[in-house]
Amino acid sequence: MTIRRLPEALVNQIAAGEVIERPASAVKELVENSIDAGASRIDVVLADGGRQLIRVSDDGSGMTRDELELAIERHATSKLDGDDLVNIETLGFRGEALPSIGSVSRMQITSRETSSEDAWQINVTGGAVEASKPAALAGGTRIEIRDLFYATPARLKFLKTDRTELSHAGDTIKRLAMAHPGIAFSLGDGDRTILNYAAATQGDLFEARLVRLGQVMGKDFSDNAVAINAEREGVTLTGYAGLPTYNRGNAQMQFLFVNGRPVKDRLIIGAVRGAYQDLLARDRHPLVALFLEIDASSVDINVHPAKAEVRFRDSGLIRGLIVSGIKHALAEAGHRASSTGGYAALGAARPGDGTGLSPTGGLRRGSGSFGYAPRPVQGQLAEASYQAQAPFERDAFNAPSGRADTDQVDEQPLDDDAYPLGAARGQVHSTYIVSQTADGIVIVDQHAAHERLVYERMKQALLADGVATQRLLLPDVVEMPEDEVNLLLARAEELGKLGLAIEAFGPGALVVRETPALLGEVDAKGLLRDLVDDLKELDQAAILEDQLAEVCSTMACHGSVRAGRRLTGPEMNSLLRQMEATPNSGQCNHGRPTYVELKLSDIERLFGRR
Ligand code: ADP
Ligand code: MG
Repeated sequence: MTIRRLPEALVNQIAAGEVIERPASAVKELVENSIDAGASRIDVVLADGGRQLIRVSDDGSGMTRDELELAIERHATSKLDGDDLVNIETLGFRGEALPSIGSVSRMQITSRETSSEDAWQINVTGGAVEASKPAALAGGTRIEIRDLFYATPARLKFLKTDRTELSHAGDTIKRLAMAHPGIAFSLGDGDRTILNYAAATQGDLFEARLVRLGQVMGKDFSDNAVAINAEREGVTLTGYAGLPTYNRGNAQMQFLFVNGRPVKDRLIIGAVRGAYQDLLARDRHPLVALFLEIDASSVDINVHPAKAEVRFRDSGLIRGLIVSGIKHALAEAGHRASSTGGYAALGAARPGDGTGLSPTGGLRRGSGSFGYAPRPVQGQLAEASYQAQAPFERDAFNAPSGRADTDQVDEQPLDDDAYPLGAARGQVHSTYIVSQTADGIVIVDQHAAHERLVYERMKQALLADGVATQRLLLPDVVEMPEDEVNLLLARAEELGKLGLAIEAFGPGALVVRETPALLGEVDAKGLLRDLVDDLKELDQAAILEDQLAEVCSTMACHGSVRAGRRLTGPEMNSLLRQMEATPNSGQCNHGRPTYVELKLSDIERLFGRR
């Protein structure tokens, strides 16, 4: 056996295997270097998805000839001034990126240090370094990478289509751009500009950030997000959290940053899920952009060569900060539901648009602007207005005379400012409450709204230790499979706290003695079956608080005013007033809106009056 030292070029290729997975990883390293160099503008071009060319130009500090020659050597960095990995405040620190990239491609670096008279250029081909030579460049640094992975054909085979590689690079730039709103970024493919973010320099960091988040995540996000500003033991959490009604089917729009570094961290993702848990259905995901600032010594970013993962010294602190920071901000948003909900509904109501509200009430985009609404042809208009009116005639206006008062509420004066959800004007289809506000109308889904109110009250009662219960005159015996009985009995104590008293009743059966008074009359068997489903499905590791929240949510659903129940005028108004006073009442426990609002101006547009 012979043990030999690997040649330098091979060592660099091995490192490249870890750090440079695809064109987007090279883009990430180069753009991070530009940010570390204090650039105010960074332009990226990818030709053929980065296969043929990746070019990153910046107006940062640049490098002198000596620095340039050092920069491409392995483990050469200007960024660790001490000899420890404790206080890392730059994006780079491993001194690996440039030599790694140079070992698998044809790399050319041109740079001019700010105070230098001239620029220098160096070429590295498959790890072979040529002598540096004078060049022309106004300032900053330009790095060109051609034929990435030509020296490692195996890696080349794993690349996806140009379009996919370009979009990965775009995602990388977006993430870095979100963390650095003061820097202008652009991405092009040689022909077209794909991303172009002007530097957001006006206002304070919060304002600048909101502008940049709007550029990257879309203006809907800035309109439907609440600001977060929380601090705990020296760790700060800032950023924006989307309203629960503004949600997505996947978690792609969750952006997390630790000390300005984009990360994908399971702890943080889990904490975000926890914060929204009782506001969203399990298969819906919120949109967030969260920025953690933490003393560099309390976090280890040297976990992974690509620096995308981190370890926190005190992960409980971080989780708590995120969960409470988001919950607090959302609770302050009160009964606010996302603005897109109302617009989506309007889009649905618009004659000729048969697509309707998205089932989640969330992101039905494109219907928010009415300027391009197609003019309906005569037939469609007639049909649409027939659909809109027929139910009214049958249901509300022709209600049995004795009950007419339950559907139609007299106009009563109401102090509009104090009551944002307005005065109830009537109930339609025994399901929706229509109310009049200062400048529009509100339509409330009575079941969803009531469910939310019951849920919030259960949670409050839980905090205040104890929910009022009602004793069943006849204890209810419920038969279920043995394992399910055991699952429930194992949680009997917590369920008791929530007002549900259950006991064992021989093999394969339970007896229910008390139910939460809040729920009114409930079908005990149905409730228990749903609770079993919850407990089975819930992550065993989910913290107790989250599990209880889930249980509350299921119970609330069982105890809520069902759609289909007629409400009296005072009942409707009381529901509206309670919604205004209850945190998070703008959405039901599944993240659907509990109400939509149409402004008069929108209604006027609908009728072509504007
Ligand atoms: P690291 O970023 O971990 O220090 P790199 O291999 O990415 O390692 O870069 C090596 C060194 O080259 C950096 O420490 C920096 O001094 C210099 N450098 C790289 N890119 C630039 C740039 N765009 N502008 C100025 N200096 C740069
Ligand atoms: Mg670097």
